[in-house]
Amino acid sequence: MHTVVIIGTGFGGIAAAIALREAGVDDFVMLERRPFMGGTWLQNTYPGAAVDVQSPLYSLSSEPWDWTRMFAEQHELEAYTEHLISKHGLREQAVLEAAVTGVRWLEGEQVWLVATEAGEFRGRFVINASGPLSNPNIPDFPGRESFDGPQFHTNAWRHDVDLKGKRVGVIGSGASAAQVIPAIAPEVGELHVFQRTPHWVVPRPDHVFSPMERTALRNRWVQRGLRTAIYWALESRVIGFKYSRALLERRGRRPALQHLADQVPSDDLRAKLTPDYQLGCKRVIVSNTLYPALGRDNVTLHAGEEGIAALTPTGIDTTPGGHVELDAIVYATGFHAVEGVLTFPVTGAGGADLAERWRAYPRAYLGTVVPDFPNLFLLLGPNTGIGHTSALFIMESQLQYVIRCIQEVGRRNVAAVTVRAEAEEDYTRRIHEAMEQTVWKQGGCKSWYQSESGHVIAMFPGFSFTFWRWTRSFRPEHHAFS
Ligand code: NAP
Repeated sequence: MHTVVIIGTGFGGIAAAIALREAGVDDFVMLERRPFMGGTWLQNTYPGAAVDVQSPLYSLSSEPWDWTRMFAEQHELEAYTEHLISKHGLREQAVLEAAVTGVRWLEGEQVWLVATEAGEFRGRFVINASGPLSNPNIPDFPGRESFDGPQFHTNAWRHDVDLKGKRVGVIGSGASAAQVIPAIAPEVGELHVFQRTPHWVVPRPDHVFSPMERTALRNRWVQRGLRTAIYWALESRVIGFKYSRALLERRGRRPALQHLADQVPSDDLRAKLTPDYQLGCKRVIVSNTLYPALGRDNVTLHAGEEGIAALTPTGIDTTPGGHVELDAIVYATGFHAVEGVLTFPVTGAGGADLAERWRAYPRAYLGTVVPDFPNLFLLLGPNTGIGHTSALFIMESQLQYVIRCIQEVGRRNVAAVTVRAEAEEDYTRRIHEAMEQTVWKQGGCKSWYQSESGHVIAMFPGFSFTFWRWTRSFRPEHHAFS
């Protein structure tokens, strides 16, 4: 029996463990489905993988790091993750290859029973940090299994497959594709990119820190100053995404179109790459290298009418009626983000079933807690996504609420805290009202931010400091203690 069971050992799980320690809660176990800890940045090792939020901000607030550049690459993020795990001695508290198969609230004991492939764990509290972008989506194209060559998702890169000189197909044109394409284009023989929808691309203000800058950044105040400056610069984007389409046009769409014009001289290619929806509706790509890569002689963009009809043993049949011969296929087709908030059954008080509760669409108070699911906290739950700034900021905000809940349970000498149904309803209503005016709802695109119901359930519709403020001011009247 543990005080807290943490599901997941990526940044969410690590941040939760550090926050618990700081609050004096040492008795926790971390469950990891993979044979290694670390989450996203240890799993996504595809060529070109890098963060697209400035690293001094994309790091835990209490754990600055000696970044070598503004947008860290995967190996540096891996090193940072490993450092956090070692520094806080988290390996000793983790159980690997412990994929969760179900979570059930035991009424009599007032504890959670977490069933995993490595046995059962009991905890008074559960923090789910399994990550919304961790379950790859591989579309079920007709004939998919018939393809003779290797095929794999960006999330599970096959480093044993040598792509040098080969004919490679990349399916998808989102953030992962935008990083893989420039990284492999120079080495492959032919690269065929299958784009269903063009994405907006803006320049990447990357910068390698000089030795002098790195020395200066080791000073806590300089580091905090830079972090704060980046935070406010990024936060201003919300004004365009939510409040001012004129600003979005001036600061977003026009510079993006200029970027396209500067980097793609071919009228035909430019037409294929020009989105017909508002910038921001889908995650904006931050890249200086994607367009030049797409313009290379060995790269062909299959777009518009030329979709994927089927996979065959030798490649991809396109619509209408073409065939592209390939040696390997890379799926840069994203993740089951909306359905993937939780992939295992969760049974709460009175037999409440979370999947059933979320049948219409996933929802949670502060994106963290659900009525009838006492002492269960969801990191990066519904409507906590943030496209314009660091997801770690949101996670740390949620954790200040989680820790406060755990402390309230201790202070009141009770077994459990649950959010009241009226409070959750009111919160969810306000979130979706605020969403109405955003580019994620009104921008004229189909994105992973939206659920089947049409609700935008991935994004927080406002400034991240608003979310921080809400998670900081605990409202006892919104909760029931038992
Ligand atoms: P994504 O943005 O969801 O892109 C998936 C791509 O696959 C899209 O182009 C999509 O086309 C295409 N696709 C999906 N199903 C398809 C089908 N049946 N037929 C043809 N095309 C299909 O996924 P992602 O690029 O992996 O990125 C996901 C998220 O992860 C990002 O939004 C970002 O939050 C995060 N990410 C971040 C970074 C970074 O910061 N460094 C890097 C990678 C990912 P449509 O657009 O038409 O749907």
